[in-house]
Amino acid sequence: MSSDPSISPVPGDGTRAVRAGLPEPVKYEPTLPGPVFAAHYHLPGEPTGPYTYGRDTNPTWTHLEAAISELESPLESAETITFASGMAAISAVLLSQTRAGDAVVLPADGYQALPLVREQLEAYGIEVRTAPTAGDAQLGVLEGARLLWIETPSNPGLDVCDVRRLAAAAHAGGALVAVDNTLATPLGQRPLELGADFAVASGTKALTGHGDILLGYVTCRDTQLAARVRKWRKVVGAIPGPMEAWLAHRSLATIQLRADRQSVNALALAEALNGRAEITGLRHPGLPGDPSHRVAAGQMRRFGCVVSFVLPDRGYAERFLDALRIVDDATSFGGVRSTAERRRRWGGDDVPEGFIRFSVGCEDPDDLVHDVLRALHEAAPR
Ligand SMILES: *Cc1c(COP(=O)(O)O)cnc(C)c1O
Repeated sequence: MSSDPSISPVPGDGTRAVRAGLPEPVKYEPTLPGPVFAAHYHLPGEPTGPYTYGRDTNPTWTHLEAAISELESPLESAETITFASGMAAISAVLLSQTRAGDAVVLPADGYQALPLVREQLEAYGIEVRTAPTAGDAQLGVLEGARLLWIETPSNPGLDVCDVRRLAAAAHAGGALVAVDNTLATPLGQRPLELGADFAVASGTKALTGHGDILLGYVTCRDTQLAARVRKWRKVVGAIPGPMEAWLAHRSLATIQLRADRQSVNALALAEALNGRAEITGLRHPGLPGDPSHRVAAGQMRRFGCVVSFVLPDRGYAERFLDALRIVDDATSFGGVRSTAERRRRWGGDDVPEGFIRFSVGCEDPDDLVHDVLRALHEAAPR
């Protein structure tokens, strides 16, 4: 490390997060300009310039998109396109980059709405192949594919695949690579640096962290790929509202604080659950004995806020959730308040009846662990 004060070091995550995407200071203007509510902008004469119509561009998105680009790709310039939800961002990549006759590789164990996307792709004449995330099994079905979709860590199973290895193999065969970065957030891993063409995520979860908005984004470095995604947004119109975009940007200032606290808490919870008799299938990529840990440690900088485990049966799991006091029974994850749910209640994921997806929040770790251990004690059959 150089101690020469004239050489600026690369700023840390917290320093970048609190300033990400802020415009140059303007006297008497706020640091983060408020949301701009505009369907159209004053536009005399030739319709040129950055702001013309509200489905195409909005200054509040511009700031947020710059911020996300700085977090996903701090060392190289990148473009971010924000969407109304994570699913809007996911479908924008899959549907804008593929044509009838192409083959797409999806994870077999990805987000529960991916099977719906699969149906839609197949209806458009696109071949869809799937393989599990664990063991880099998607490598086995890449032959001739146009696009590889990776979700690591996978939701809710928390398997991890080697992004560098999969991206290299996909590129060697001419396929594009997209990584769903929802669970990790850009502070947990940076898919573009690991070789992906697209970092895609739901901003609804840990990115914004307060459980009060839906948002999605796509970040990529290639301007032509970005242009296709941007055009898709214009065609479909799945745009974020200015209020959501502004709230998201405001939330990003605390992402390093939240991500650090949540990953410390998640590890504390996983360690407290490790080895307990009523628990099987405990998973958290940060746990040294976890099957995902080795690969995760090679590509993740924080291991995320989700811990999953299996209780003996449905009744046990329901009694546990009911007995929790500082943890809400709710879906989604990544919020400052811990939540947990019995994932099987949705029917979609291929998990046991007693499977719990636990999203660890920003509570004091001792309080959280105490609440969970007490709830487990109360849930035990007597
Ligand atoms: C929630 C989620 C999505 C979908 O995001 P929405 O904002 O709900 O549309 C996509 N991928 C993963 C991994 C998710 O957890």
